[in-house]
Amino acid sequence: MTDKKATSVNGGAKPERDCVLCGCCLELCPLFLATNREELSPRAKALLAGPSKFSAATLDEAAVAELAGLCLACGKCEKLCPQGVNIPRLIARLRAEHPDFRQWLWKQWITKLAPYWSLAAQGAAFVPQPLVPAAFGLALKGLRGLRPGKGLRAWLTITKFPAEAFRQKYADRPVAVFDGCVGSGPRKAWASAARYLLRSLSANLVAADFSCCGSTLGVAGLPEDQDAAQRANVTAWRGAGRPLVVTYCATCQKGLAEYATEGLDAGLFANAEEMALWAGSVTPLSPLMLGATAKAGRGAPAIIGWHRPCHTDPADADYKLLSGLLGTRLRSPAKGNCCGFGGIMQLAAPQLSAQVGAGCWAGLDTVLGFTKAGEVTPGYVLTGCSGCVMQLAATAPAGASVGHWLEIIRPD
Ligand code: SF4
Ligand code: SF4
Repeated sequence: MTDKKATSVNGGAKPERDCVLCGCCLELCPLFLATNREELSPRAKALLAGPSKFSAATLDEAAVAELAGLCLACGKCEKLCPQGVNIPRLIARLRAEHPDFRQWLWKQWITKLAPYWSLAAQGAAFVPQPLVPAAFGLALKGLRGLRPGKGLRAWLTITKFPAEAFRQKYADRPVAVFDGCVGSGPRKAWASAARYLLRSLSANLVAADFSCCGSTLGVAGLPEDQDAAQRANVTAWRGAGRPLVVTYCATCQKGLAEYATEGLDAGLFANAEEMALWAGSVTPLSPLMLGATAKAGRGAPAIIGWHRPCHTDPADADYKLLSGLLGTRLRSPAKGNCCGFGGIMQLAAPQLSAQVGAGCWAGLDTVLGFTKAGEVTPGYVLTGCSGCVMQLAATAPAGASVGHWLEIIRPD
């Protein structure tokens, strides 16, 4: 076993250990579970891209590019790995070392085209699916899923807000909402609902000019762009008076929280105190709402499936809040399957992404039963991650409704 220092894709220094081939990671890797193919497993990637670089040096460029495309960056393997092998990081580094047109596309999409996502989502609705090259078919469907008005009706009225608990914890501390690329673009309804909830908690809302959290750029192998996004966000936070940063996308939350693991090495923060303040400032919205009560109005379905995002916190705070508000209406599959989004993997291996997505819907069907009684119980699924909303919308069975949980909140 070696314990080397290696430069991470975003510039920090992390100890890096070799894979010992124990296979613990196989239990949760969505790609391996969907295909049973060892070459897609985390340990195959660890061998080829880890510190030992078993054979990456001998692979040709096409093979390396293929390998670099085959990871959803869900991070499930890392949670089980006794060696702490971070596969998404290894793959991100491989992607950075072997850039291709997919990264270029992803970079344009995230850093240049975000203001036009609403327009693109509307335009995507008019593109006939048969005319779309197979490599872009799933991405196009996901794009359609971002259209405003394609989400769910608001039918849940919050009848009591835990404002006193919020005041005791945060008093008058300023609060800024981190909307992420989707909430600040094509799904502005999420941003409005989040602000409605925070205003009802009597939060002292302030504006902050945040950009993309940067995590999707990092895993795509675009470390300079990730770094620029992180710096812009920390600067915006400082400019807003170092407020509490409230998120409502699991991937944004994870991405922002990670600033505090390498931020000092990367020069993101002035000192350890500022980094600790950031770490204590980034929070999902849902824990702030714990203790709320609600009433379901007309249009509330009898059964609602919950999709647990891979990037959610271990306690799945969104599910905890919603199950308190919705009771037995909300059902979560025993096995939380990955939706198959995977960022850049949508472009690299759409068929695998769809295969993983099919497994996710099979899991949801165990609680919704829409394949047996679709006309009685149409699939109705909520989640708490913008990438999952896109992917689930792209892969949903006919008639199913998919949305972020904020879409069912009815503002007074
Ligand atoms: S990050 Fe996810 S998809 Fe990639 S190897 Fe690990 S478990 Fe598999
Ligand atoms: S759990 Fe870690 S050490 Fe074990 S096979 Fe997977 S990557 Fe290798």
